[in-house]
Amino acid sequence: MSEVKSFWCHEASNVLCVRASDFDNLTRLFLDAAERAVASERREKELQQRLTEADEREDQRAALTNDDLVAIARNAALNSVDRYNYMPCLPEEAFAWKPHYWVIEAMRAALKPADGSKPSTCTWSEGGFSWHTGCGKEWQFTDGGLPSENGMHFCHSCGKTLVVESADPS
Ligand SMILES: [Zn+2]
Repeated sequence: MSEVKSFWCHEASNVLCVRASDFDNLTRLFLDAAERAVASERREKELQQRLTEADEREDQRAALTNDDLVAIARNAALNSVDRYNYMPCLPEEAFAWKPHYWVIEAMRAALKPADGSKPSTCTWSEGGFSWHTGCGKEWQFTDGGLPSENGMHFCHSCGKTLVVESADPS
């Protein structure tokens, strides 16, 4: 903005002027800056919105009861394009219809976060001059030592959390 020059047009009446092109540039710069500010505010709001929605989904997932899942299954059965004779066709039928329990269990399993109760570790045992990973690979450290001493906390092969088998006293 330093290149904007102002000069006296009419010093006696205290009128200060800027060149028309400078004024246009300034206006444009100002508008650009304002637009960027608005855009970044909008982006931030959208991000916040998305985070809130994710939180709400998480809450909903945790709060889903078996009755909720049954209701979802009833709806899915009503709306399904594939028709089987065990499925309800009318809302009145759907209201009394009970999906197989395994359907509910499958839905429940699908709702579980990926890091659920399943063990997600790979147990490494030391044998000879190398390590044997729980997922069937062999690995050596040039300078020896424990995996953790080599900065390894995850199995390079299966990606699970690396656990070292407790030392055998034999
Ligand atoms: Zn592994």
